[in-house]
Amino acid sequence: MNQKILIIEDNDQNMYLITFLLRSQGFDVIQAKDGPSGIEIAKEIKPALILLDIQLPGMDGYNVAKILREDSELRSINIVAVTSYAMLGDREHAFEAGCSGYIEKPINPETFIEQISEFLPGSISEGG
Ligand code: MN
Repeated sequence: MNQKILIIEDNDQNMYLITFLLRSQGFDVIQAKDGPSGIEIAKEIKPALILLDIQLPGMDGYNVAKILREDSELRSINIVAVTSYAMLGDREHAFEAGCSGYIEKPINPETFIEQISEFLPGSISEGG
């Protein structure tokens, strides 16, 4: 069964690009456009990995990460923050909120899969 990856991202272009890159590698991609719906979907599908935009309308990504970390059933799922705010301390805030990784926008299509693969359970290299 293909690994499921949940993307929580409000920007259509970023959502499209990340979805395309992941699907081209055979992942099942599930999309959420805001924090609350992302949390609901995470509970329902228990994805292998969550890619989390930090700049979301309403509940921001830091709060989404904190809520996910407080859920005993979701605590073990890695969260990778994806953010365009390369401000000092931003990375630290993401880790403090419970993210395991941090990717800066703009997304680099040539390195993106490699960047996220270390946060996936098991290996994705079987496709060779
Ligand atoms: Mn955003």
